[in-house]
Amino acid sequence: MNITSVRAIQPASPTSPDDWRTWLGQILVIIETDDGLTGYGVGGGGLAGIHVVETVLRHELVGRDATDVEALWDTMYARTLPYGQKGLAIMAISGVDLALWDLRAKRVEKPIAHILSDEIQTTVPAYQTGRPVEQWLTNGTEGYKALKLFIGKEPGENIDDVINRVLTVRKALGPDVTIMADAFMTLDVEQTLRIAEGLESVGLGWIEEPLLPDDLEGYARLRDECPVPIAGGEHEYTAAAFEGLIRERLHTIVQPDVCWCGGLTELIKIYELARQYDVKVRPHRGSEVWALHAICGLDPDPLAESGRPWMTWVKGQPAVKNSEVTLGNGIGFGVWFEEADIEAN
Ligand SMILES: [Mg+2]
Repeated sequence: MNITSVRAIQPASPTSPDDWRTWLGQILVIIETDDGLTGYGVGGGGLAGIHVVETVLRHELVGRDATDVEALWDTMYARTLPYGQKGLAIMAISGVDLALWDLRAKRVEKPIAHILSDEIQTTVPAYQTGRPVEQWLTNGTEGYKALKLFIGKEPGENIDDVINRVLTVRKALGPDVTIMADAFMTLDVEQTLRIAEGLESVGLGWIEEPLLPDDLEGYARLRDECPVPIAGGEHEYTAAAFEGLIRERLHTIVQPDVCWCGGLTELIKIYELARQYDVKVRPHRGSEVWALHAICGLDPDPLAESGRPWMTWVKGQPAVKNSEVTLGNGIGFGVWFEEADIEAN
């Protein structure tokens, strides 16, 4: 099962520089092997990520045995290490790694989840994210048992405005829905503590990414002083980096993005670390197929993030219904693509 070709493309999705899907730079990695299989994976890094895949990683991969996924990961990491380690080089590796896992599962004709575990959960709970507050106030919970609100400051807002925004939602939706809060790296320690105090009556499930990912001292203060669990990690890379966060308990809930953190090879290691240290894993974009197989196969306490249309060009994505998401039966990741989305590149 030797690798014969490695390609990466930017799918035909929104191209406006202002569209968040553009600046995330999603790339589709396509790997073919000499036994006629094709593996697909999604990574990041845009054109720079494609450059890494097609000029550096491809050179290392073509001719190698595709089943040797973990050894190929080590090779890719070593080759990109001088300029990599985090960020777009690891995002590029993530797409390749996911495509190799797709091939691994297709070779035995099973969904990925079934090669991660003999006993999988096919339906797992999901929470909703990324919707404006007005929508919750107008439409209610829409069947969701848990939802996540943005708690960064909107233009012209102060911290009290942020607190009041969340209190308004709690009052409108009642006590039965779990509310989590995501600051997307826009607060400091003092602001986070004020919000945690001001929202004590809400019983927040977690506060997500209050600080910049590298503010480890700040996260240590929150670990010691904040009464609300701190979540984070969607902007962290490799299991080695997650080990530091988990071991020091800088996050009590980790949220790796499998398309960015190094792929499924790394997400599996992160799940094992979380098990050892009794930390929860809530993969970023968990209702997408790329992470959902790991959630269904490995997570003892699953919760999948759903919401924004991150990858409408990936066909075979599961639908979320009644606050739950169900894994499909397709082999590998169970995804396919429209020619137009691929040929546009
Ligand atoms: Mg987030």
